[in-house]
Amino acid sequence: MQDPIYLDYAATTPIDPRVAEKMGQAMLVQGNFGNPASRSHVYGWRAEEAVEAARAEIARALNADPREIVWTSGATESDNLALKGVAYNASRQHIVTSAVEHKAVLDTCADLQTQGFEVTYLQPDAHGRVEVSQVEAALREDTLIVSIMHVNNELGSISDIKAIGGLCRSRGVLFHVDAAQSFGKLVLDVQDMDIDMLSISAHKLYGPKGIGVLYVRREPPLKLHPLIHGGGHEMGMRSGTLPTHQIVGLAEASRLMQADMVKEQARLSSLRERLLTHLRQIPDTFIHSHPEFNLPSILNVGFAGIDGETLLLALDDLALSTGSACNSTSVEPSFVLTAIGVPKDVAQASIRLSFGRFTQPQDIDHAGSRISTVVGRLRGP
Ligand SMILES: *Cc1c(COP(=O)(O)O)cnc(C)c1O
Repeated sequence: MQDPIYLDYAATTPIDPRVAEKMGQAMLVQGNFGNPASRSHVYGWRAEEAVEAARAEIARALNADPREIVWTSGATESDNLALKGVAYNASRQHIVTSAVEHKAVLDTCADLQTQGFEVTYLQPDAHGRVEVSQVEAALREDTLIVSIMHVNNELGSISDIKAIGGLCRSRGVLFHVDAAQSFGKLVLDVQDMDIDMLSISAHKLYGPKGIGVLYVRREPPLKLHPLIHGGGHEMGMRSGTLPTHQIVGLAEASRLMQADMVKEQARLSSLRERLLTHLRQIPDTFIHSHPEFNLPSILNVGFAGIDGETLLLALDDLALSTGSACNSTSVEPSFVLTAIGVPKDVAQASIRLSFGRFTQPQDIDHAGSRISTVVGRLRGP
């Protein structure tokens, strides 16, 4: 049997061969295998040079200063460092976030609640978008930080980060953005958008797993309490020997995303339209993703009147994820779909289709007609 068609790019992406090539070089003895913190020989200097060039590449993509880029192990760590790092240094006790954030933010907030912090969870609109007016209404005298994702990972909906950033800046409240799904796909400008901290993950943009960035504003300086103590790397915010090959991979992945962004997003938009044309022919289909403010490459769709588990089993030639997190005894609908008010029966029969650089029109056509056939068959005559 052939491998299923990969339609789960929002979960992770394959490494681009050009990225893998750069990473391989960086690990070898002829390359940059040295410890970037070694100051006494050329192996260390070369590795440091590669790391600093990568830092400049990421900074350029964000319109940031290279000294504002902190390497982490991924967006989960970046989210933890942003929220806990600020909270552990603060006297203010209130945090504003949304009910549809990634677990890396939600579970961190829950942990901070056990330590006396108060958290307001905003309910987004029916497609997962958080409005600036909602954030404004939630702000208090003692609000420390607002954390809102740029693009929702289950729906693809895009929140107005610039408006929320402007509000937070004018109220003297810190603003953190989880940009794991948007970096390299949408324009990000931390100056223009008044962003204080921003999380990135390489494996969502054809880079390696296990590397990410937290952008941390420098003017005025924002000092975070570290989660990992040690050699004082990364301006004391994140200790540990820097993984040069991972960092070089992330920078190359970012460079490729920036170079192709406009063209590739247009190509993905046309794939989305193609997929929608298929899906719209299926009766009683609900598009959960936002009709206007949505990343082209994520489409979340639900079907009335069928069993979600049976649907997934039947779609065995498509690699996609559901709106449901399954465990052995029950199928719980996704908390994101529940939060945007999708009825339970539709939520349990919802799928997230996410595509990307290696997806071709014929993959979309195959997926569209398979879904149509299977949904029709499960509904019976
Ligand atoms: C993937 C993802 C994360 C986690 O990133 P890792 O690098 O895998 O830790 C966090 N937030 C969002 C929105 C994501 O999509």
